[in-house]
Amino acid sequence: MTEGRLSITRAAVIGGGVSGLVAAWELARSGVAVTVWEAEGHWGGAVSALTLGGITADAGAEAIAVGRPAGLQLIEDLGLRGDVLTPRRTDSRIAMADGLRELPPSVLGVPADLDDPRVASLLSAADIERARDEREAVSDSTTTVGAYVRERLGDAVVDRIVDPVIAGVHACAADDADLNTLLPGIGALVDQTRGLVPAAARMRAGLGPSGSAVASLRGGMHRLTAALVDACCATGVDLRHASGISRIQRTDDGWRVTDTTGAVTDVDVVVLAVPPRVAADLLHDDEPQLAASLGAIETTAVRVVSLLIECPDLDEFPAGPGVLVAAERTDVQAKAMTHANAKWEWWDDVLPANRHVVRLSYGRAGQPAPAVEGLVEQAEADAKALLGVTGSWRVIDSAVTTWQESLVRPTPGHAQRMRDLTDQLHGLPDLTVLNSALAGNGLAGIIQLAREEATRVVTSRPSGHSPQRTGESAVPLARISAHSDRSGEAP
Ligand SMILES: Cc1cc2nc3c(=O)[nH]c(=O)nc-3n(C[C@H](O)[C@H](O)[C@H](O)COP(=O)(O)OP(=O)(O)OC[C@H]3O[C@@H](n4cnc5c(N)ncnc54)[C@H](O)[C@@H]3O)c2cc1C
Repeated sequence: MTEGRLSITRAAVIGGGVSGLVAAWELARSGVAVTVWEAEGHWGGAVSALTLGGITADAGAEAIAVGRPAGLQLIEDLGLRGDVLTPRRTDSRIAMADGLRELPPSVLGVPADLDDPRVASLLSAADIERARDEREAVSDSTTTVGAYVRERLGDAVVDRIVDPVIAGVHACAADDADLNTLLPGIGALVDQTRGLVPAAARMRAGLGPSGSAVASLRGGMHRLTAALVDACCATGVDLRHASGISRIQRTDDGWRVTDTTGAVTDVDVVVLAVPPRVAADLLHDDEPQLAASLGAIETTAVRVVSLLIECPDLDEFPAGPGVLVAAERTDVQAKAMTHANAKWEWWDDVLPANRHVVRLSYGRAGQPAPAVEGLVEQAEADAKALLGVTGSWRVIDSAVTTWQESLVRPTPGHAQRMRDLTDQLHGLPDLTVLNSALAGNGLAGIIQLAREEATRVVTSRPSGHSPQRTGESAVPLARISAHSDRSGEAP
């Protein structure tokens, strides 16, 4: 936390996901009295745990990007550095209509080397020739990743590689994904490197193979949440779970927050660490313009089915650590699958012989999440098809987890809209909003934003408070996801 003049004494953090917990810890370490309200009966939001056959596992997020320092720095600050693991396998696959193909080194599916044999297994010779013959002129009106890559490298690169990666990671079609959000500054880099493929190679340099630029914690990413809860407790944060906030109102000297039981608490500053629609509803009366901007953000509902299986066919990890499913693969409903114990070595310590954990994610942009009823059976069928299982298969345990609004869909114009939203927000010294729309879909980004914004609200609110807007923000504008932490990383 940056040193600053402490001008607030009480803060309400609404939402006990990672962003809310990080902000609460930062504020408490600055001497602010903090209360966190979390609607669910557990902490962590998208970074929470479930029990599968008696083993505690990740329900949602299972990795963190290492390309941005913020994630690993937090892990270090929480004393978990010794438990950081990198994936033991990075040879992810794309499921095409005619079988699995290994994902070549890429950025968001844009190949970093057209001579790589993995590219030849995905694209025809004619497709590769088209990609080599990169077109210089791209119209200024190109606003999506799909359109940009189509114009430069041809349709096949988008349909067979870029689209499955973006659908799997951002729950968004490539042709609907904002170029400036997912590949900010790409035009300048392409000019410098004289092509999109060399630009992808430059971006990948130092990151190692696709899928290797992430890490996790021994035992699962949910340990981050547990450590944050412990750190909050140790700094005196008042943590209230199963306790949602239904209303916030401005008062003469701050805010009044009302929980779902009707209990009210008065504070100087509010941190809204909830999905954008929830923040929009809460701000509707007092900050209608901000509420309208937040309400316009699109999210995709995601369901993850976790399966604990006994299946000797899987002992050799036939599909590597994970599979992204191309739209042409119509016999499979899942958009991505992770073979958890193929990816993370810590599972070896807790899984008996022949047992495996696979996680399948469902939910396509613009569509409601598939019904829970029958989804485990669908996931079994999808997993068997993707893994090529012919022998014995027994499901020991299963779990379905739903996130209605945790994954933000970066539709065209998203980056500009988020810059405007950040400008509006930075005019308000006693309020901050934390979500994946502002930070990018990914943990490292949301952690960085939470820390920056906690600093801003501590230092920017004048003593002897008046709730008027300030002209300048105390910290630079929140960074709009330098292509999100999750981009380019296969499951
Ligand atoms: C299935 C899934 C897998 C993911 N995998 C990865 C991954 O592997 N790596 C990665 O970097 N990122 C991943 N992400 C993205 C990452 O997890 C999120 O960007 C990040 O966790 C968002 O944190 P958050 O605290 O902003 O939001 P959330 O985690 O959504 O937390 C918001 C919290 O607010 C609470 N809330 C809502 N309304 C109220 C209310 N009225 N009052 C009080 N509380 C309320 C919710 O219950 C929730 O706990 C994944 C996301 C999902 C959904």
